[in-house]
Amino acid sequence: MVDISEQLLTLLENDLSKDQVKVKILEHKSCIQHQRTYKIKVKFNCDHCLHSWTSAQDQIIFYYYLNKNSRVLEYNAETFRQQCTQCKKYQIPDIYTEELIRVSEWFSKAMIDILFGIKKTLKGKPKESNMQDHHKKELCEACKLGKCGIQNEKDQLKKLFGKLSLGQ
Ligand SMILES: [Zn+2]
Ligand SMILES: [Zn+2]
Repeated sequence: MVDISEQLLTLLENDLSKDQVKVKILEHKSCIQHQRTYKIKVKFNCDHCLHSWTSAQDQIIFYYYLNKNSRVLEYNAETFRQQCTQCKKYQIPDIYTEELIRVSEWFSKAMIDILFGIKKTLKGKPKESNMQDHHKKELCEACKLGKCGIQNEKDQLKKLFGKLSLGQ
């Protein structure tokens, strides 16, 4: 787990300042009300064997507390490491700036919707990755911690398709 709360602070402040929402990093995890997960594209450079790879299968989880009366958002954000496919050492992702911007925009939009109940539409949909890689459960730190949104989504689909028994 990698805490990226600091990395997102300025972006979130910019996205939320026009609606007079104050943004703070959450100090007491016991205040957490909710969480949201966003899939992101990241890059890894293994510092051990120098292997490098990209993955569209990482994620950012926001844990947050939103005070509707005072319009204060307190949050923590974390992302996850992956094991190197070559040497199996855990590596910290390098998140593309455009991905941080996108996630900040979508999370801010979700907060605005909660606060004002308006569905302000953003231009375009969240960018779905067209990379053909698959989620590697055995290399994913979030899976090991039981927090993986990508794996949960897959399991849900499997359950659904199982129920529908499409015979595929
Ligand atoms: Zn390696
Ligand atoms: Zn996973």
